[in-house]
Amino acid sequence: MRWGGNSSCVQVQGDGLAPLVFDMGTGARGLGMSLLGSPGRELDLLFSHFHMDHVFGFPFFVPIYVPGYKVRITVPGYSVEEAREKLSRYLNGMFHPTRLRDLPSEVSFSVVRPGAPFERGGYLLEGLQLNHPGGAMGYTVQADGVKLAYITDTAPFARPGEGLLAGEGPTPREEALVRFLSGCDTVIFDTMYEQAAYLERMTWGHSFPEYAVAVAQAAGVHELVLFHHAPEADDDQLDARADYWRGHTAPRVIVAREGATMTVEG
Ligand SMILES: [Zn+2]
Ligand SMILES: [Zn+2]
Repeated sequence: MRWGGNSSCVQVQGDGLAPLVFDMGTGARGLGMSLLGSPGRELDLLFSHFHMDHVFGFPFFVPIYVPGYKVRITVPGYSVEEAREKLSRYLNGMFHPTRLRDLPSEVSFSVVRPGAPFERGGYLLEGLQLNHPGGAMGYTVQADGVKLAYITDTAPFARPGEGLLAGEGPTPREEALVRFLSGCDTVIFDTMYEQAAYLERMTWGHSFPEYAVAVAQAAGVHELVLFHHAPEADDDQLDARADYWRGHTAPRVIVAREGATMTVEG
């Protein structure tokens, strides 16, 4: 009720640029309505992966129904055909009356592979393969001289007792993650579980706050946003999480709240 119950959908807004949106969880419906209230008629959508909680809002994202609205979609994958096919599984006339090929907006597709910087709509981006069943892409995005990372869904890049959180050096995969995040001002990171719950669900592809903090510290990040709360986490649990991390300074730790706006500062 107080922290929000929608699934992943994050808008990034650079000065003078069109909106860039990460994922189309159920939060996409409200975002689409608010975007229609602004004069722009183009945007970039980037998907981390195609699990339902990141796609389900797409058929309810009203800009895709506005003739002439330019919706540029970027997905992890190898070909534009593959990208189109993955999304059209949800928009095939069975799960929703709309079909992808019938959308009146100008929808275009492109793919991203990890390891090479790329540009969309004036933003500079890069992708990193995360640790999630079936794969997921994490992103960094730069504009206006600041850098933000969107890292969900992912499990830690080390087993318990190894790597950064164990106080040992980073594992090779953690080294790559830390390098990827270095220079970021703000990092949004999957912290679905508390640590004890994670230890019971290590193969589920999600992380916990202590791990995100250790990674952010190693990367020298100023500000960490705890994101992708467990569906069963209620307001009191999220209040407790916010209280627990409130005094933390390096990095500063914020618990994501639905509808919240924050300014990324260098
Ligand atoms: Zn997922
Ligand atoms: Zn998810």
